[in-house]
Amino acid sequence: MNYVTHLECAFTGEIVEKGIPHTLSSNGKPLLVKYDLEKIKKEVKRDDIENSSEPGFWKYSPLLPVSNPENKVSLGEVITPLITLKSSLDHLKVPYGNVVVKDESRLPTGSFKARGLGMAVSMAKEFGFKHLAIPTNGNAGSALAAYAARAGLRSTVLCPDNTPVINTSETLAQGADTFLVNGLIGDCGKIINEGKKEIGWFAVSTLKEPYRIEGKKTMGLELAEQLGWNLPDVIFYPTGGGTGLIGMWKAFHELLELGWIDCKLPRMVAVQSTGCAPIVKAWDEDKRHAEFWENAETLASGIRVSSAIGDFLILDAIKESGGFAIAVTDEHITKVCDDIGQKDGFLLSPEGAATFAAYEIAIEKGLVDKNDKTILFNTATGLKYPLPEVTKRLNKEDAFDISKFR
Ligand SMILES: *Cc1c(COP(=O)(O)O)cnc(C)c1O
Repeated sequence: MNYVTHLECAFTGEIVEKGIPHTLSSNGKPLLVKYDLEKIKKEVKRDDIENSSEPGFWKYSPLLPVSNPENKVSLGEVITPLITLKSSLDHLKVPYGNVVVKDESRLPTGSFKARGLGMAVSMAKEFGFKHLAIPTNGNAGSALAAYAARAGLRSTVLCPDNTPVINTSETLAQGADTFLVNGLIGDCGKIINEGKKEIGWFAVSTLKEPYRIEGKKTMGLELAEQLGWNLPDVIFYPTGGGTGLIGMWKAFHELLELGWIDCKLPRMVAVQSTGCAPIVKAWDEDKRHAEFWENAETLASGIRVSSAIGDFLILDAIKESGGFAIAVTDEHITKVCDDIGQKDGFLLSPEGAATFAAYEIAIEKGLVDKNDKTILFNTATGLKYPLPEVTKRLNKEDAFDISKFR
């Protein structure tokens, strides 16, 4: 059983029934899952959640869409840790404890895509699908591959041919039929769309199926519980399709309605790269929909998304929360990766580093205050990206040379 009542078009409010497969609403917009929160309030207590023995995000099962527990596909999810930045903050003179990274790299397949795809694959299993397909810039593909393999389902993954090699290799290694496409993620999506009729696979593209967002929502639930059923003042989130930002915003509203939190909601900050910033442009121009971003280019491949179908949901959440959208350069991202790795021993992904770069700019411009409790999201492990080469060498035959180590 579950507490889902129905699904609702996020744009028009059109209602569709639960228990059958869905993609987009009749007017081509994302569908959101709705729950009987009154009933949950009566039957589930915060303590039940805190004492749950289910792994990681599965502890929030009453607020999730899977009906039959046997369909929950798990690879040993964990509650991702909150890591307080130390030396890397010195130059900003921010009080210790005010900037904390939620480190999503600890999840299966090394990124937070495990949350969304874990949920989507579990629901696919529930609906009896046999074959799933995805267009991806990397992390979503490997997460789909892993969870589909675990569930005994086939997966087909299409990546732009400039996707980081580690992502395409790990995807292949976890059993997906993996292809490189000489185009962008949108081109991959078109091919997958054609395959729907011909092959009958089910596409789990961002927000084009309704359950990935329910998985990503658990970032917000988990954060609230970790902070003692409280929330920070500001959240910086590396935004591509925006599932995580929209999902957290949904989570916070569900928690408020349940009475499990009664705090002010955080300001939501969407962080993008100057090489691909459609949401930032729309925000600056006060628009509700973003234009397609031509020639998208950034080393933070997870946020190289030219067009987001949930653009209005991202922009609405930012606005409602009193937040903002901000773009950072790849040079700045690289500098932050180096700095935080060297000073705090914490290797961020470029997407995670982008949130810190944005925080620096926001402090400088007075967009956030040094006393604000701030959460940054490190959405993947830095180990998936190109790393610096070691160039210093020692010859074992040479006499020990102390000058080399000073
Ligand atoms: C997919 C991805 C993002 C963007 O996530 P959305 O919730 O779709 O905006 C950010 N960082 C990494 C590492 C990703 O893989």
